Amino acid sequence: MMIRSLMAAALLLLPLAARAEAPAEGQRLILVTMDGTRWQDVFRGPDKALVADPKFTHPDWKETVEKAWSTGPSVMPFVHSLPAQGGVLYGNRDAGECIAVTNPMWFSYPGYNELLTGRPDPAITTNDKNPNRNVTFLEWLNHRSGFAGQVRVYGTWDVFPYIINDKRSGVPVNGEAPGAHPTETRTMRMAQDALRSASGMRVLYVALGDTDEFAHEGDYAQYLSSMNRDDDLIAELWRTAQADPAWRGRTTLIVTTDHGRGGKPGGAWTEHGSAAAFKLAPSEYTIQDPEGFPGSDQIWMAAIGPGVHAVPQISLKPAACFTQSQIAASALTALGEDWKAFDPGAAAPLPFFAGR
Ligand SMILES: [Zn+2]
Repeated sequence: MMIRSLMAAALLLLPLAARAEAPAEGQRLILVTMDGTRWQDVFRGPDKALVADPKFTHPDWKETVEKAWSTGPSVMPFVHSLPAQGGVLYGNRDAGECIAVTNPMWFSYPGYNELLTGRPDPAITTNDKNPNRNVTFLEWLNHRSGFAGQVRVYGTWDVFPYIINDKRSGVPVNGEAPGAHPTETRTMRMAQDALRSASGMRVLYVALGDTDEFAHEGDYAQYLSSMNRDDDLIAELWRTAQADPAWRGRTTLIVTTDHGRGGKPGGAWTEHGSAAAFKLAPSEYTIQDPEGFPGSDQIWMAAIGPGVHAVPQISLKPAACFTQSQIAASALTALGEDWKAFDPGAAAPLPFFAGR
């Protein structure tokens, strides 16, 4: 008791500035993915035809959806607020922006592999629980000094331990029993708690999945609603980081998705996958279309933090699309790491992250 009082007294004598911030410990990263969330719904807001179609929006929900988002604020207000705060929101094809996956499948495991390893692996053709043969940037960091034991993953899908290859990588995934399907709110709560309590943690990846689940069910109102809830949860996570001296001012947030969804009018939005993916496993799809689901290779991304800088709009219209592969090097660059040391063959960072 005595010693603690003396320490408290000593702390009071320290100049205010010295106590305000924890010692510099290097840059930090929060990566969040929202499974199968279309750029169309992010940038255009609710699709009026899908809201009007009782097959996809229960008539009881139509008015609520219309009142909430059809004419008013975006479904994802936090993500849309980022550019005004010095961040980026990219992938609006209506404005000439372009970012897409380069893996040939256009579904989850190939997408998460691409974004976490910096290159597509055409040999990954299923979502089966196979330990990833490729090394993610999370695994690479976890074996580096300054990051070892400071990388965590919280996901709502029980394939993540395999994608991250938790056994080989040593990156803890979830802290839930294997096979458990925690809800998004609970997953985010665990991530929040870890961020608050684990002062050593520097890299946090939260993988959310409700958007894809509701889309496959063909429930457009619930799909929009989960986008909106995810946006809220991400905003709360960002606020938590900004309130913590260990994270504030040195954390970059990246939000993106593993794949898009079908862009054709009608029911295609419920599905995703290329013609090649469809051909491999037609029974996996509710809609039988040998063309697959064009548009589901199209993605979007958002970011904010010291690792991100604005780029003149003109240079954001590339001759070719930016790619999902660029996220890994972007994340490493935001952390102040040399992405070429991770994998010289990985795709280069997106321009928002490259050289200052
Ligand atoms: Zn899916």
